[in-house]
Amino acid sequence: MYACPWCERKVFSFWQKQSLGPSKTLQCTGCKRRVSVSWLHAHLAALPMFVFAICGLWFVGDAFNSRIFALAGALGGVVLGMMVMMPLYHYIVPLVKPDRR
Ligand SMILES: [Zn+2]
Repeated sequence: MYACPWCERKVFSFWQKQSLGPSKTLQCTGCKRRVSVSWLHAHLAALPMFVFAICGLWFVGDAFNSRIFALAGALGGVVLGMMVMMPLYHYIVPLVKPDRR
């Protein structure tokens, strides 16, 4: 569980945070205020997914010299990247008070 940045109560579940992006907010059930995730950290956590996807696209496609395999490699890269992203999201992305824009 993750603590609310406003009231420090642990009200957010793992999946709630996974589904939360920097442009989305969640309402704290404790204090009714909105929380979001850090833009920079969320993007850092998402970065490996793109790197894996591009690596899959290039290396698998090259190895088999086929667009179908390149696509499969990219998809495999995304799946691998998601598996890396989830723990990264868990450890490095903090819940923050959303900026008022
Ligand atoms: Zn709260």
